[in-house]
Amino acid sequence: MPALDLKTQLTNLVDLQKIDSELYTLRYEKDAKPKEISTLEAAFEEKKQSLANIEKKSLDLQKQRKDTELELAVKEESIKKLQTQLYQLKTNKEYQTMLKEIGDTKADASVIEDKAIQVLEQIDKTKAEVDDEKQRLQGGEKLLNEEKKNIENRIKEIDERMEQLEAQRKQVTPGLDSKILVQYDRILLNRDGLAIVNVNNDSCQGCNLHVPPQVINLIKMYERIVICEACNRILYIENEGN
Ligand SMILES: [Zn+2]
Repeated sequence: MPALDLKTQLTNLVDLQKIDSELYTLRYEKDAKPKEISTLEAAFEEKKQSLANIEKKSLDLQKQRKDTELELAVKEESIKKLQTQLYQLKTNKEYQTMLKEIGDTKADASVIEDKAIQVLEQIDKTKAEVDDEKQRLQGGEKLLNEEKKNIENRIKEIDERMEQLEAQRKQVTPGLDSKILVQYDRILLNRDGLAIVNVNNDSCQGCNLHVPPQVINLIKMYERIVICEACNRILYIENEGN
């Protein structure tokens, strides 16, 4: 293949840059996808943990309920026993003491009863919370799967587009001198996927720094590749008439 003049090669490089810029953006987007998925999964795990916490609370309450029921049964048994003993007592003093003991035990039992009612109320409340949380989790799982599917579809789209672009790239690269291509690829790698930039209003569109007139003249001579002194990118002039 005969060597192409530099001006044509620069035009080809600009075409290549268009392809590479899109590739760069797509690669960047694709690279962020695993993190997106893990963030969604972490949020879902948190919801699961929240349900586990409420279920644990529910179990604790069931245990409390058994404990209070047992406690209450013990008190009721004591009251019965004391009441039986009451009629076997000989003196009034003993009788009064026993009555007081029965009264105290009944008061204790009443406190435990109140506690038992509270525990039952809490059990009902927690049961409703568990049901709510389970429903939320179900919805969350459905949403998670949908979002994961969307991300996977997008990755597939990206892969397909990248394949197309790689094919286009292969069509453009033969129109370039291999040394120029190596230089371009190196800059591309080191300068965030942007290797060749336009000079607009006397400033480099890669780094916005002023490009002096003598450099602009050099570019227009098309004798050699001119790079920006500040950002090291290849410079070209899109519209020489302006
Ligand atoms: Zn620059």
